Formats: sequence, structure tokens, C-alpha cells
Amino acid sequence: MQYRNERETVVRYCRMMLSAGLTTGSGGNISIRLADDAFAISPTGIDYAAMEATDVCMVDAAGNVVEGGRLPSSELPMHLALYRARSDARAVVHTHSPYATTFACLRETIPPVHYLVGFAGTHVPLADYATYGTDALAENAIRAMGQDFNAVLLANHGLLALGASLEHAYATAEEIELVARIAFQARAIGTPVHLDDDEMLRVIEKFKTYGSQNPQEEE
Ligand code: 13P
Ligand code: ZN
Repeated sequence: MQYRNERETVVRYCRMMLSAGLTTGSGGNISIRLADDAFAISPTGIDYAAMEATDVCMVDAAGNVVEGGRLPSSELPMHLALYRARSDARAVVHTHSPYATTFACLRETIPPVHYLVGFAGTHVPLADYATYGTDALAENAIRAMGQDFNAVLLANHGLLALGASLEHAYATAEEIELVARIAFQARAIGTPVHLDDDEMLRVIEKFKTYGSQNPQEEE
């Protein structure tokens, strides 16, 4: 089997997405870019508990399945379009996480109520609604993501996050769900204060060396 370790990693993150409450059933999907013409993506409609590495589909840049016993995620067009639009994307995570999706159903962006929104950008933008699995949804998502954001809300649907690694794309999906929950809670008992763009740009710059033991040597 090609890319066994990477496909096992996709399964592991799919299960984490479910156990962390970022999705339910077989909702959401995960992919990684392994080479210019090689992508691993979760299969469509398979229960995460039963999913095995061999179920994870290997596809080329045109979306042809090269290896894997299942059909690829219905959102394959959105994942591939994102990799084409963003050379920095090495992994894509799509969830139906409940608090982020609440904002998506209100057709609102997630505002900078907490500095962790910097995982996505100055805020979390909103992509126009289109039916799941369509090229129209892929186009809407890419337009909203642009080059400056790492996550977008999909109207009446969920959240889409990209990253330089699967670990990072997943962390973005997880942190944005936390920010969405805090925004929801803050609005429930008062009027949240939003951080301004200057402060968010400072936070985003600081994130580039966060966790490094030698911050001066980076960038
Ligand atoms: P798949 O099971 O086809 O990946 O679809 C789940 C989903 O979230 C569609 O948007
Ligand atoms: Zn979905």
C-alpha cells in the first residue's frame, strides 16, 4: 500500500475530529498533499470508527482515484481547488463543529473576540452558500479564503481550515471552534469587545515563532 503511514494519520485525525465533537456521523473530511500530484483524502460516507488506512483514497491532481477501495469524499473538488489556490496548504480539514456552524447558519463571520482567532486570520470570513460537494461550493470557499485566511465558514454548513501540516490545519479547526463558542457565550450574557485589526496582525506575526525555543532564529 502506498503512503501507509500518511493514510493511517488521516484515519487518526478523522477519529479525533469525531471524539473532540468537531463533527458527527461521517460528516466532515480530511486530506493531505503528499506531492504535486498525490493527495490522500478520507472516503465518502464511511463511519470513522470503522475506517481503515486502505479506505483512505489516493487521488491525483485531477481527482482520479489512484489507489483505495472506496469513493473519495464528496468534497474532493473543494479540497483540490484549495490546494491549487494555496501553495502553502499541505492539509485541509473540514468539520461541522457546532459553535462555528452556528455562526455559519446566521451567515455571520466569527469576529475577533479572542486572540486565538489569529489561527484563521483577523477574523473568520464567510463563504456564500452552495450545495455540499459542488464546484460552486469550492469556488465560494476559495473566494472567501483568499491568500490571507487559513479558515472560512461555509454558510449553513460548517468550517473549512487549511494548514502547512495536518497537525496545524486540525489545530486551526479546533481553536476556531473554541473562539466561536466564546463569541456565542459572550453574546449570550453581554456585548463582547472585539480586538482591532492592528492587534490581530500583531498576534498573527507573533504566532509565526510561537513555541520556538529560538524565536530570533526563525523567519
Ligand atoms: P463526505 O462523507 O463525502 O466526506 O461528506 C461529508 C461532508 O461533510 C460533506 O460536506
Ligand atoms: Zn460538510
